[in-house]
Amino acid sequence: MDTTRKPSWLRAKLPSGPGYAAVRRLVDDHSLHTVCQSAQCPNLGECWSRGTATVMILGNICTRSCNFCAIQTGRPTELDLSEPARVAESIARMNLRHCVITSVARDELTDGGASVWAATIRAVRHRNPQTAIEVLVPDFKGKYEHIDTVLDAKPDIYNHNLETVERLQKPVRVQARYDRSRDVLRHAKSRGFTTKTGIMLGLGEREDEIAQTIRDIASDRTDILTIGQYLQPTPQHWKIDRWVHPDEFARWKEFALECGIGVCESGPMVRSSYHADEQSKKYTGIEHLNTVNALAGV
Ligand code: SF4
Repeated sequence: MDTTRKPSWLRAKLPSGPGYAAVRRLVDDHSLHTVCQSAQCPNLGECWSRGTATVMILGNICTRSCNFCAIQTGRPTELDLSEPARVAESIARMNLRHCVITSVARDELTDGGASVWAATIRAVRHRNPQTAIEVLVPDFKGKYEHIDTVLDAKPDIYNHNLETVERLQKPVRVQARYDRSRDVLRHAKSRGFTTKTGIMLGLGEREDEIAQTIRDIASDRTDILTIGQYLQPTPQHWKIDRWVHPDEFARWKEFALECGIGVCESGPMVRSSYHADEQSKKYTGIEHLNTVNALAGV
């Protein structure tokens, strides 16, 4: 397959309008990092024009070296202790009913950055009591005590991406593991949280492997699944294998729903945080999500 030219269904919208300008100003004024920029997300034009962005905490240098990801790998700088308040303020300014926060992996920190995660969730909740908080977290090396630090701060949705099928974990995610990531999601579920994960297609996975991954996600009782097209950020990154047609994405969505996953967004441009507000509304409704977690005593 010729993967040098993008198919017509993958044309991204150009950034424009007052929404885009406002988000750009906010990001600059509050010295925020966004995964939209760091991961070279193709939806930046559309999301920022809608007035939404995904804030990335704990810096913009990652200790891991996943072969699909455009975020810079290296030795992170010191922790920025004013970050939780700035993130909370910027979410208030964006006036979001649903926010998504993510981070780089900070494996060099004794708690993997879990305490900063918890401080950020609490600061955002305090400043934005009506806003649903979705966290897209690293695996914290599977350590329950760090995962629990984040869960104790009561995010509304606990999102951790499997990214790809089991066979491709090692070459694509290098320091991560399929079974460990599944365990992270199961642990959050066992504590009553709404869980979410995402995979990319176009990395070289086979049809039977995609089906098995979706079945695994369903058997872990994960509530929300996103499936999107892998885009190769640079020639040095993992080589794209194929462009997946929108009809195939639609078939996988149907399959995921048949397997019992509550919500599945599947399409070439879908990313974990793409229209995340609408995904969560489809699941139970934002207000309800807060109630679910409160009732679970988490
Ligand atoms: S899909 Fe997510 S990462 Fe991409 S631009 Fe939208 S909010 Fe940012």
